[in-house]
Amino acid sequence: MTDHSADHDVVVVGAGLAGLRAAAVLARRGLDVRVLDAADRPGGRVATDVVDGFRLDRGFQVLNTVYPALRAAVDLAQLRLRAFVPGAAIRGDDGQLHTFGNPLRRPTLAWPTVTDGLFGLLDKGRLVDDVIQETQVPNLSLILSGPTPPNPSELLGSDRRCKIN
Ligand SMILES: Cc1cc2nc3c(=O)[nH]c(=O)nc-3n(C[C@H](O)[C@H](O)[C@H](O)COP(=O)(O)OP(=O)(O)OC[C@H]3O[C@@H](n4cnc5c(N)ncnc54)[C@H](O)[C@@H]3O)c2cc1C
Repeated sequence: MTDHSADHDVVVVGAGLAGLRAAAVLARRGLDVRVLDAADRPGGRVATDVVDGFRLDRGFQVLNTVYPALRAAVDLAQLRLRAFVPGAAIRGDDGQLHTFGNPLRRPTLAWPTVTDGLFGLLDKGRLVDDVIQETQVPNLSLILSGPTPPNPSELLGSDRRCKIN
């Protein structure tokens, strides 16, 4: 195989999100860039399979919109992002969509979660077990409720932190 890497200013190995972004930035600055990937498609760990007409994402459902690098790279408004309700919607063998969620975070999900027949009582008990979080402190367990608080990276990148500085 002929090595053409000397023909380019930069050779980026890996056409995942990082490699593609690096290549795009470098190319925009006027460098001649070649991207190589061992796989037969770009995207790396981000991929979508089409099965029976359904688009199935292999991963990457949650986009943390506060990262400055993301905002510099992507026009977020164009993505028409929508917030996820914490929970799950599962298409059952009956063809119906069954919706479940933590009622402490989203009270309107309490009734559908309790009355839905897709899971038996035992499995619902396990769901409750997940809601009650054990701690490393003896005899102390936690039930969290209310909206999900921002994670530390969101706080660090938020406008509020900029105001504190
Ligand atoms: C199931 C799943 C769910 C996820 N969900 C989220 C989410 O909700 N939110 C989020 O922010 N992140 C999520 N992630 C993480 C996110 O997908 C990755 O952090 C991101 O895609 C990594 O991009 P990358 O370019 O660094 O690496 P990769 O995507 O791994 O790309 C590396 C590329 O390099 C190629 N390569 C490697 N070695 C060689 C070699 N020697 N020669 C040639 N090519 C090579 C590989 O084929 C690959 O294409 C998820 C990941 C998975 C797997």
